[in-house]
Amino acid sequence: MSETTSQQLPSVAFLGLGHMGGPMAVNLVKAGVDVTAFDVVPAATDAAREQGLAVAATPEDAVRQAQVVITMFPSGRHVIDAYTGVDGAEGLLAAAPAGATFLDCSTINISEAQEASGLAREKGFTAADAPVSGGVVGATAGTLAFMVGGEPEVFERVRPLLEIMGGRVVHCGGNGMGQAAKICNNMILGVSMVAVSEAFVLAEKLGLEHQAMFDVVSNASGQCWALTTNCPVPGPVPMSPANKDYEPGFAGALMSKDLNLATTALDETGATAPMGRLAAELYDQFVKDGHAGMDFSGIITTLREGSEESSGQG
Ligand code: NAD
Repeated sequence: MSETTSQQLPSVAFLGLGHMGGPMAVNLVKAGVDVTAFDVVPAATDAAREQGLAVAATPEDAVRQAQVVITMFPSGRHVIDAYTGVDGAEGLLAAAPAGATFLDCSTINISEAQEASGLAREKGFTAADAPVSGGVVGATAGTLAFMVGGEPEVFERVRPLLEIMGGRVVHCGGNGMGQAAKICNNMILGVSMVAVSEAFVLAEKLGLEHQAMFDVVSNASGQCWALTTNCPVPGPVPMSPANKDYEPGFAGALMSKDLNLATTALDETGATAPMGRLAAELYDQFVKDGHAGMDFSGIITTLREGSEESSGQG
């Protein structure tokens, strides 16, 4: 977290107090930011109150005095619906005061992020997307990485808030480019975890010890985060989820979600990415097989089972 003083900090409406949004909003309050919070789920608002957050009765009430409106929702549909209002609701864009900045920190489709920021800008507001990496641990510790898409002056306006909630804040370009950076990174991560897992399963079949493979590859050209930090086999990296029966970490459901955002972006742009598409299929199946809550490195168990079935047939 940075040394920013509360006098310089804009007031915030924080909507979406789930696994990520709850601790992020708490960190803003601890830094002296004036935060009014809201969530549609009463359990989330109760937990937020217990943590010292002021909770509004409606989403519109949360934003009426806000200089920055932060959303942390599951999907792009949630963001656009909250902005515009559904089922007779007024919507955040109608309720926010002139001059407000809409800052969406959810991980959503690039096209939806651009649609949401476009809706805000049409109403005379400024807007940016700022998806995060770092998970619940980073959200709680205030060490998230933020990838920001928006005009430079909007980035400067929200930067002090992001520096409270995060350890690294990168301006990636115009609206949607924060999501683009996040989606490209996670496509690499999904593909590389499958590649590392396949190599370990092949090593097992060949009789090569996990530790020996790790000692070579972690110092060779196969070195990557999926191997050296989130190693999918227990032993070589004691803190990796594989040592705790694949307790996440980064859940398979979230990797599947992010790879589906990548395939949407591939469809929309026409970019060729056979590996990214295959990783998306593998993680879809991983979730369908009941592993949504398992760390994404648990894909190795599915690959191992698959190899056992093929050797049975061979
Ligand atoms: P979550 O489901 O725990 O929280 C989302 C919250 O939004 C819920 O409490 C829900 O009730 C609330 N919500 C939905 N619609 C709302 C509305 N209209 N008004 C107010 N509240 C509303 O999800 P999460 O794990 O906190 O993730 C949030 C976002 O962050 C997602 O887009 C996710 O992909 C992204 N993300 C999550 C992680 C992680 O490790 N959990 C890591 C990086 C990014």
